[in-house]
Amino acid sequence: MTLITCALCIEPYYALVTGEFACPCGQVLAVADIELETAQVWVVDASGALGYWVDRVALLVAEIAAYGLRVTAEDIARCGEEIERMGVDEWVGTQVR
Ligand SMILES: [Zn+2]
Repeated sequence: MTLITCALCIEPYYALVTGEFACPCGQVLAVADIELETAQVWVVDASGALGYWVDRVALLVAEIAAYGLRVTAEDIARCGEEIERMGVDEWVGTQVR
């Protein structure tokens, strides 16, 4: 998980009982205001800190769509180790014909 930090105090946001997040300098972040990129999913760790991780399958699906490829779930399952080794970008590149 990569921590999501406040732009002002550079400390992580922590979950509040209200369902929002706050950092030590008092900035409050609502779930709707969490800005994520493609395939990033927000998560909260055991300490309550807010972060994100990358959903590899969602990232792969987005990359494949961007290249206009038709790849089945079986292809992805079969190539899982290759994708892990090469990284998504390079692997998708090998699939472009
Ligand atoms: Zn702050």
